[in-house]
Amino acid sequence: MIEIKDISKSFGKNAILKGMNVTIEKGEVVVILGPSGSGKSTFLRCINFLERADAGEISIGQTKVEFKKAKSKEILAVRRKTAMVFQQYDLFLHKSAIENVVEGLIIARKEPKEEAYKKGLELLSKVGLKDKRDAYPHQLSGGQQQRVGIARALALNPEVILFDEPTSALDPELVGETLDVIKHVAQTGVTMIIVTHEMSFAYEIADRVIFMEDGVIVEQGSPEELFEQTKEERTKQFLARFS
Ligand code: ATP
Ligand code: MG
Repeated sequence: MIEIKDISKSFGKNAILKGMNVTIEKGEVVVILGPSGSGKSTFLRCINFLERADAGEISIGQTKVEFKKAKSKEILAVRRKTAMVFQQYDLFLHKSAIENVVEGLIIARKEPKEEAYKKGLELLSKVGLKDKRDAYPHQLSGGQQQRVGIARALALNPEVILFDEPTSALDPELVGETLDVIKHVAQTGVTMIIVTHEMSFAYEIADRVIFMEDGVIVEQGSPEELFEQTKEERTKQFLARFS
């Protein structure tokens, strides 16, 4: 289980996250929706300590840390339990698909090469890229690169994968295959927090949808509750843009 309590973050005088509380069960898929600038990326980045939140705490598995006070050892402990998939694929350009996937296993986890490559190949199969194991990023489509990134995140067996608009940089025809892979991974019981603007995907994949605006949670619930039964004016206005 992951528990985030009272997380706040300001940039200068701008309060971006204003005391959000989020609890996520093991295996749960949580989708975060919200207008541009509402703090969605900041929220994910604070979880992973890519940004340092000003207040609040996170419990993830047995690790519990205060954002503001966390020392490097605690930060590392949280990072080991979280993996992030960004909008822009961020693969090592001079490494092949399989090398990208096994890098973390060999370097950070010190796994024997043979085992790491075996696991890496299984993961590439899982994302439909077994035959691309030796291809370099420039030989892969954007969607394929993003899938290598997902395999790389899975390799480290994190407690949670954080997706920040994983398909928004892709050509429209490549979005579907990437979303399908994420759906497939979700079905295997991996805990996920996904920021996306793909509403039908959100509807299908989410166990719970959180709608946030201006650094606070406006509303959360099942996809049905949020998309079909919301009584919140703000949520209605936001969703109306996508229909
Ligand atoms: P989008 O849907 O456009 O990706 P978002 O909900 O992810 O938006 P954030 O990227 O979290 O929004 O940004 C929230 C606010 O915080 C924005 O006003 C942004 O300008 C500001 N912000 C984000 N990062 C920084 C930073 N490093 N320094 C200063 N301001 C920042
Ligand atoms: Mg963002």
